[in-house]
Amino acid sequence: MLAHVSTTEAEAGRLARALDLYEYQGKALFARYGIPVSEGRLARTPKEARAAAEELGGPVVVKAQVLTGGRGKAGGIKLAQTAEAAQARATEILGMDIRGHVVRKVWIEQASEIEREYYLSIAFDRSAKQPLFIFTTQGGVDIEEVAASTPDALVRLHVDPLSGYQPWHGRRLVYGAGVKDLSQQKQITAIADKLYAAFMGCEAMLTEINPLIVTTAGEVRALDSKFTVDDNALFRHPDLAELRDVQAADPLEALAREKGVTYVKLDGEVGVLGNGAGLTMATVDVVTFVGGRPADFCDLGGGGDAQGVVDALEVITRDPQVRSMFFNIFGGITRCDEVARGILQALERMGITLPIVVRLDGTNAEEGRRLLREADASNLHAEATMIDGARRAVELANAT
Ligand code: GDP
Ligand code: MN
Repeated sequence: MLAHVSTTEAEAGRLARALDLYEYQGKALFARYGIPVSEGRLARTPKEARAAAEELGGPVVVKAQVLTGGRGKAGGIKLAQTAEAAQARATEILGMDIRGHVVRKVWIEQASEIEREYYLSIAFDRSAKQPLFIFTTQGGVDIEEVAASTPDALVRLHVDPLSGYQPWHGRRLVYGAGVKDLSQQKQITAIADKLYAAFMGCEAMLTEINPLIVTTAGEVRALDSKFTVDDNALFRHPDLAELRDVQAADPLEALAREKGVTYVKLDGEVGVLGNGAGLTMATVDVVTFVGGRPADFCDLGGGGDAQGVVDALEVITRDPQVRSMFFNIFGGITRCDEVARGILQALERMGITLPIVVRLDGTNAEEGRRLLREADASNLHAEATMIDGARRAVELANAT
């Protein structure tokens, strides 16, 4: 990831649920846009790895497919001279844990003879509201390190999305980075053009080639791929949406997605449920403010019907860390009495024993609170303000 992306932006990106693709998927997209990549095959077992290496012929490289970088350093990338060796390397790499990601697939590709390693990426620069090219001849390593130690080695160049990519962009990149070789210049500018087409065509947030190699034969090629697509644009790209690996995603978030619940897993003990993204966000803050730790961000949206509440509760309570819940509901168009009925029906159906604090305010709040009181459920606590509700929920989480 790039150093200029701040934590808040990364968080916002997380809420927007960017879709990260595996290297092999990103490379397939590169190939679709005409960016040169090595020929390869996907394998899920050592036997498949061997067969893939046999088909490809010659030395291959066995690469762990996980949604995290630095696989090389972690031992997830190994060269193999023969098909037998490829099988042995795949046996070692499959099942390996790379920073919490278990390797279930390996990508077997024809090994490259590397002369030089460059870096080329396009990221969406939110502050400039434009795609930003970054190019350097000091690739292969962590780009943040290059940015920190030799910032002048990085060529940064925005593209105005209205006029699009122009040949001068490519020239600025290669001259700026000091690429002298004419053939390399031609190949890199052509790749920059195609990478821009891929970035725009897939509505990506990031397309990164690290390393972009020059082979001993003088050919420039993408040896790795980091490809992140904007989740909000996926409805326009059903083929890309299919690439999502539900197995690798957080299981709770996968369940939420299935049920159509807007849910982001956090690391605390107080389950948070609100109606409306802004109010839910504020609820997460208030729980933190009074000394608690939110277990999630869950937005009920506009509706407050029983099914919506049941779906949200099923996701939140599936998290074993949750010890209390805080429902923060502001009745606008959604009436509080409706939400109260939804909550009561949901509790009846699900038999939840965890303490639940409900703050109802706005349209028909009185009526809603009355319904909750009359229900006489011992684990249900009604509060009139957000701060009191949050305090109560945190107390209850600490008490259990
Ligand atoms: P990352 O560590 O997750 O970024 O994985 P990469 O795909 O970028 O590979 C890491 C490093 O492994 C590269 O920078 C190369 O030095 C090396 N590597 C990968 N593929 C090959 C290959 O085909 N031949 C050679 N010689 N080295 C390779
Ligand atoms: Mn890499």
